[in-house]
Amino acid sequence: MLKRILIANRGEIALRVLRACRELEIETVSVYTRGDQEALHTMMADRAVCIGEDAPSCGYLDMDNIIEAAKLTGCDAVHPGFGFLSENAEFAEKCSENGLTFIGPSAEVIAKLGNKAEARKIAKAAGASIVPGSDGPVRDAEEAARCAEEIGWPVLIKASAGGGGRGMRVARGAEDLKTAFAEAREEAEKCFADGTLYIEKLIENPRHIEIQILADRQGNVIHLGERNCSIQRRNQKMLEEAPDWTLTEKMRRAMGDDAVSIAKAAGYENAGTIEFIVSGRDYYFIEMNTRLQVEHPVTEMVTGIDIVKEQIRIASGLALTKKQSDITTKGHAIECRICAEDVFRDYAPDAGDIDFLHLPSGFGVRVESALYSGCRVSPFYDSMICKIIAYGDTRLEAIRRMRRALGETIIRGRKTTMPVQHLILYNREFLRGNYDTGFMEKYGAGFLELYEAAGGKE
Ligand code: ADP
Ligand code: ADP
Ligand code: MG
Repeated sequence: MLKRILIANRGEIALRVLRACRELEIETVSVYTRGDQEALHTMMADRAVCIGEDAPSCGYLDMDNIIEAAKLTGCDAVHPGFGFLSENAEFAEKCSENGLTFIGPSAEVIAKLGNKAEARKIAKAAGASIVPGSDGPVRDAEEAARCAEEIGWPVLIKASAGGGGRGMRVARGAEDLKTAFAEAREEAEKCFADGTLYIEKLIENPRHIEIQILADRQGNVIHLGERNCSIQRRNQKMLEEAPDWTLTEKMRRAMGDDAVSIAKAAGYENAGTIEFIVSGRDYYFIEMNTRLQVEHPVTEMVTGIDIVKEQIRIASGLALTKKQSDITTKGHAIECRICAEDVFRDYAPDAGDIDFLHLPSGFGVRVESALYSGCRVSPFYDSMICKIIAYGDTRLEAIRRMRRALGETIIRGRKTTMPVQHLILYNREFLRGNYDTGFMEKYGAGFLELYEAAGGKE
């Protein structure tokens, strides 16, 4: 088993990894920036090393500093969490060059699957259905137009290096393709320093359903069932649940089998997620995330498996202790990603101090957070500040429990997305469990009206 792990992240996910290490009796080293001197991940680790200033492209993205910190403190492994360097093949490579185990797949596999146009080919070759689209990247708007004519409008122009819902534009016809293509390219270059684009048919309002997998070094691959992450705003998830409420047993089995085949075909190791979009009885592969996912807790709650501990065991070279036939799910779990954002200002980030904090607790409620009363929400990083997870015997119990949990949460000083998530839990379509990625576009404005009417705007 690994002995000392450097956690190359901050916020709630750094604490999540730290907790798993503690339970496995593995020592922890945190890295922190000057602005994070008083952050919980800095204070709670066995040791903490300062890695510089808070600014884009330094601090938590500074590969050399982080590797130096790991070597200096005698770590044998690095856990990247999600975001930051978690899907960076160069970082994974540098770790192994320096004798550090990167807790995730190999650099080669990250590079292969991180290129979404390339990942489509792997999925297709593994026998999974992919969204009709271009055969690899398209060079320019003309080639994109030819491809769109072939597969049929509307299409989605997507960045090969994309993530976080960015670098993506819809084109409904030849008229808007040029602009959409230029916009997607510009955003892709800005966000990912790579303007490579590919085309997919736009599946109108699909459901986003993804499969969590675990793969060990011995070649065993299992899946832990699905998560429905269709409540999205601008292609970013806001609320997730497991299991999905509408999937037939047959589809569930087929999607699980496909996910395992894709992971095997890619030579995958460690935890990962295969994302699909589902329309009626059809489902299509869209991408694979080669890391721990934000919404992993809902899968943990219904399977009883600690995914982060599994990651660490796998990276230690141990074989999976469970076979596919050992995996069952029980009950229902829902997660809300709470972001410090002003929903009335187009969800603009709201950084600053939290004056007073009260987090929910009680039977069936789990909180993943690195907040405390008086802490500061940094303007330099993602606005997601905490996750609240509710578990219930039934979906309805999980929903009622989540309403109860959100109701007792107080985050004074910052504006958050919580009121919107609270209202989602009363929406009729949501209650039926039969909703799609068009949900927020359809109801988002209504939620704001209701919240404003209730005096939420001041
Ligand atoms: P998941 O696929 O697990 O739902 P996302 O694709 O939304 O997660 O994003 C994964 C992680 O990437 C986020 O949790 C965050 O850490 C990082 N990320 C996403 N969007 C942004 C952003 N706009 N700025 C910085 N980091 C981001
Ligand atoms: P990212 O890497 O940014 O997470 P994804 O390829 O996973 O990008 O897509 C993010 C979201 O965009 C999906 O969850 C889905 O809501 C939507 N989406 C992606 N591809 C399609 C498509 N071909 N048709 C319709 N919606 C799509
Ligand atoms: Mg995705």
